[in-house]
Amino acid sequence: MNNEKKSVGKILGAAVRNIFRRPATIPYLGGELKLDPRNRGLLRYDKESCVDCGLCMKDCPTGAIRIENRGTREQRDMHAYLNMGKCIFCGQCADSCAKKSITLSSESNLAEFTQDALTIELRK
Ligand code: SF4
Ligand code: SF4
Repeated sequence: MNNEKKSVGKILGAAVRNIFRRPATIPYLGGELKLDPRNRGLLRYDKESCVDCGLCMKDCPTGAIRIENRGTREQRDMHAYLNMGKCIFCGQCADSCAKKSITLSSESNLAEFTQDALTIELRK
């Protein structure tokens, strides 16, 4: 019981001390980082122009991209998913796409808290 009280006291003490400390990390030194617009960041996907050829998936060296047609052959309903944990932002998928349905943006603020959250649906 005495030991329990000591532990709770230690935890509370540490909590109070840390409230008044400066943060150990800060988001960006000297403000948000401005990257060169040519930086290879998050992919963009235009579902209207995609013809479901699958070349982007075939050519991706890491298996990071998945294209799905949830409609029919005649009436496509295209969706593209990217696993940001696997993507190396090489741009091969964009190079392979004859329809220019995939492009690379410069958006690079891509951190997530869970592994599942790293797989996202791509948008225009
Ligand atoms: S940028 Fe490279 S690694 Fe990422 S999905 Fe495209 S081909 Fe795959
Ligand atoms: S290569 Fe282009 S057209 Fe073919 S499935 Fe991928 S995004 Fe669609």
